Amino acid sequence: MYRNAKNVGYYMIGKGSLAQLGDLLAARRATEKGPAIFFLDHVFKDGSLAARLPVEDRDYVVYVDTTEEPTTVSVDGYCAQVKEFLAGALPCALLAFGGGSTLDTCKCVANLLTNPGRAEDYQGWELVQHPAPYKIAVPTLSGTGSETSRTGIVCNEAKNLKLGMNSDFTMFDQVLLDPELTASVPRQQYFYTGIDTYMHCFESITGSYRNVVVDALAHKAIDLCKEVFLSADMMADENREKLMIASFLGGMAAGFVGVVHPLSAGLSMVLHMHHGVANCHALSVLEDIYPEQHAEFLTMMDRQGIVLPKGICQGLDDAQFQALYEASIVHEKPLSNRLGPNFRNILTKENVRSRFERM
Ligand code: NAD
Ligand code: ZN
Repeated sequence: MYRNAKNVGYYMIGKGSLAQLGDLLAARRATEKGPAIFFLDHVFKDGSLAARLPVEDRDYVVYVDTTEEPTTVSVDGYCAQVKEFLAGALPCALLAFGGGSTLDTCKCVANLLTNPGRAEDYQGWELVQHPAPYKIAVPTLSGTGSETSRTGIVCNEAKNLKLGMNSDFTMFDQVLLDPELTASVPRQQYFYTGIDTYMHCFESITGSYRNVVVDALAHKAIDLCKEVFLSADMMADENREKLMIASFLGGMAAGFVGVVHPLSAGLSMVLHMHHGVANCHALSVLEDIYPEQHAEFLTMMDRQGIVLPKGICQGLDDAQFQALYEASIVHEKPLSNRLGPNFRNILTKENVRSRFERM
């Protein structure tokens, strides 16, 4: 069976393009009566970003707390807040300004506005039944590709499961990429999130589930990541634009990752570690599975002056190592994508534990 693949409908790219967001939203307001819902990362709580946005009195602004990455509980909470404000109406648009956490929160809440139940009911593939309201993504941090991907990732603490709502309905309808918005990102964060694109794409092209379009996008995104992270300053103006485009392409190429993301998900679930840095720890102990990329990644870190802390699993007890193993090995699709259906013969419990111990 072939899959009918969807891409993001519209995109606008360019320095200063945020000034045109009002025109994009005005087109929606002209045909849809409802208010607009703005999701802003809490780093913008001082109001400086909101002041530049086409927010009207009848709209609603939600500040998303990204201290922790989205959970089924946090998404349900924001959804309840938005539903109370809307009082049965539907919004003309939902707009998200932030990194993957804010974009994913917006995507998941949107699904829950038109589908009954709670966030955890939709963790998986093709579970969302009804189209979500119209959504616009404005990334302020590049790398996850959430702006173009068909998933919104949430951690389910009760089930020890990090899994997204994978659906065409989860995708944004419009993306606006303004590289000026990433100038304020702290350097470490910029690296850890940015390198997520590189990881998604090399995991994709080194896997067995492939297609030519996805390969082309992934190769281009990897080239851009190399240009950015092997340059003298990854945050130079032209590099912030390149990374934004790499993330955009990478999100379209995402779908099947490999071994990095499952181990990273384990770290996120058990140690509450953020996605980008967790990926880096994961790749740091996968030199046998991804030798070329492992070496290249070390060069990139060195070039950008990024030092990954060591000993992150020191002092964990057996139950915690077991939880790390379980939250990693559960991701059968990506693991078999790289290692084949017998991936458990390679990633035995002892093998996985020793990798975590080396981080
Ligand atoms: P994030 O959204 O969690 O943000 C990280 C930090 O950067 C936060 O402290 C935030 O306040 C700050 N920040 C964001 N923009 C800023 C700016 N312009 N200036 C200063 N600070 C800024 O980080 P992320 O790495 O983008 O997202 C991680 C989440 O994305 C995880 O939950 C991960 O699972 C998810 N993810 C989603 C997809 C997808 O396809 N949907 C893919 C990969 C990862
Ligand atoms: Zn990722």
